[in-house]
This record gives sequence, C-alpha cells and structure tokens, in this order.
Amino acid sequence: MVLGKYLDIMTVKTTDKILQKYSQDGGIVSALLIHALETGVIEGAIVAMPTDEPWNPEPYVATTPEEIIAAAGTKYVLCPLNNALKIAAREQGLDKIGMVGMHCLTYAVRKMQLYPFGARHLPNKMALLLGIFCTENFTYTGIKAIVEELHKVNIEHVEKMDVSKGKMIVTSTLGERVEVPVKLTHNYVQPGCYICPDLTARTADISTGSIGSPDGWSTVMPRTKVGKDLFQSAVDMGLFETKPIDSGKFGMEMLTRLAQSKWDRSEKTRAERAEIGLPNPF
Ligand SMILES: Cc1cc2nc3c(=O)[nH]c(=O)nc-3n(C[C@H](O)[C@H](O)[C@H](O)COP(=O)(O)OP(=O)(O)OC[C@H]3O[C@@H](n4cnc5c(N)ncnc54)[C@H](O)[C@@H]3O)c2cc1C
Ligand code: SF4
Repeated sequence: MVLGKYLDIMTVKTTDKILQKYSQDGGIVSALLIHALETGVIEGAIVAMPTDEPWNPEPYVATTPEEIIAAAGTKYVLCPLNNALKIAAREQGLDKIGMVGMHCLTYAVRKMQLYPFGARHLPNKMALLLGIFCTENFTYTGIKAIVEELHKVNIEHVEKMDVSKGKMIVTSTLGERVEVPVKLTHNYVQPGCYICPDLTARTADISTGSIGSPDGWSTVMPRTKVGKDLFQSAVDMGLFETKPIDSGKFGMEMLTRLAQSKWDRSEKTRAERAEIGLPNPF
C-alpha cells in the first residue's frame, strides 16, 4: 500500500551517453520526456530549469530535447512547477503538457483534475505526469547553508548533489567529493515534508528514483496505461536497458521499508499536530 498501485517495477538506465552524463540517476525522467516529445505524446514539459543563481531553479516549459537536457539533474530545492501549467497552456498554447514532480506536485495536479474549481482547462491538458521519489526538501537558503556551512563548499562550485546511504554528497567542479550525514541536514528540512506521507509519487503515470537500484540505475514504476505504453515504446526503441529489481535487502525490501518509514513519520507528525490543536491537511 505504501508504494501505491503500479503495473510493473524494475531497474532501468538510459542507453543515451549524454543523458548518462547529465542526469541524476538512470536518466529516466529526461529520456522519457524527450521520447514523449518526439512521439507527440506531449508538446512540452514543465521542468526545473537552472537560473543565474546556482542551484536555485525555476519552473520552465521545455519544448526541445536540448532544454530538457539542460534541466536534468536533481536540485534539492522547492520549485513550484505547477505554476508553469498556466504558462504552458495560456502563454504557449500547448494542448498536451508533461510535468515532472515529486508527490506534492503530482498530487496537486491530480487534485486539480478531480476538483477543478473552474480551471478545468488547465489540468485537463496534463498528458503525462512523471513522479520522482522524495524523502524531504529544502528552501534555497536552507540548501545553501547546508552546502556552505556543513560541506564547506561554495555553492557556485557545486557540480552535483546527491543523497545516498545516509549521506548528503556534494561533488565540486574542482573534483572534490564531500559527504555529511543526512541527519545533520534535518534542521533545515521544510516542516511540510514531515507531514508528507508519499515517498514514491503514487499519483504519477510513472514513478522513478534511485532507492532500490544500484548507482547509475533507477527504480521505475509504470502506474497507468499512459505510463506503461510510453515506457514500453521507449524500451522497444532501445532507449533503456532494464533488469528485474532485486527483491532482497537493497531492492524491493529497502524501497518498501523507506516508503513505510516516511508514511509512519507522517502519521506521527499529524498525531503530534492534532494533540496541540493544529490543523492537518488530511
Ligand atoms: C527534492 C528531491 C528529493 C529527492 N529525494 C529522493 C529520495 O529520497 N530517494 C530517491 O530515490 N530519489 C529521490 N529524488 C529523486 C532523484 O534525485 C532523481 O531526481 C530521480 O531518480 C530521477 O533521476 P533521473 O536520472 O531519472 O532524472 P534526470 O534525467 O536527471 O531528470 C531529473 C528531472 O527532475 C527535475 N527536477 C530537478 N529538481 C527538481 C525539483 N526540485 N523539483 C521538481 N523537479 C525537479 C529536473 O528538471 C529534471 O527534469 C529526489 C528528488 C528531489 C528533487
Ligand atoms: S517530502 Fe513531500 S512535501 Fe516535501 S518536497 Fe518531497 S514530496 Fe514534497
């Protein structure tokens, strides 16, 4: 139940050398968005595009493979991608829109589809929702403080950030690799993330993340017919290498355990809030 409904689950990586270089994990999100664009499933995709301020992305409607590649890679920063839905539909006139996002973003789109509040013309243009796993997130000031005060790396010199095996890892453009225990970053986590129950973006068409798969590969969960058809056509075209997900300690077992732990954290937080009279969103 904590993983939601899915039609399949496997370990996957892109066969595209450029995406292997610029993507965060297996390059699934960027490869699928480009494939969806090239096969007409979408006309544009809302992504988190880098800006002049290092590691502070903004929502952006990408309409070319080059723009999708430019936005590849994880930025551990709040980025309200849903805001660009109106830009995609009303300023760019797109009819079939794709979007990437973790639970809070994909869930918001599904809620708009169910309860459109007079704005049905926007969510109904959402043709593809790609979900990314997420445990927690930070404000820009928060992530800058983590990188500069805990890792002691100037944020302008960061090439990649990653979270793996209980460590937040920063790789610099000078080739330095600095790790700090994730628990040291907990004071910076957005409070809303402690209420959030869903690790694997259960309302997406396809969900993906690194948990459950080896470095450089991703766990992929097609969840809807739209997601399964798109993924299968990408596999048929040789865009992905796939293998069964490890059912043991570092595969399904770990994914289920971490998803359950996020679920439990949410229940505990909601109980604590209720006890002191604070409202809960669900
Ligand atoms: C805040 C955050 C926390 C995460 N936590 C986990 C975790 O605990 N466990 C886990 O397995 N995976 C986690 N992920 C997902 C993981 O880091 C990768 O994004 C995912 O595996 C996709 O990798 P990829 O190589 O397929 O994507 P890529 O091809 O690199 O594409 C990544 C896509 O994500 C978009 N993106 C980047 N940053 C953001 C953002 N802040 N908000 C919205 N979209 C964004 C990019 O624009 C791009 O389109 C997290 C991601 C984020 C953003
Ligand atoms: S933990 Fe939940 S609320 Fe926080 S960024 Fe991730 S999906 Fe959104």
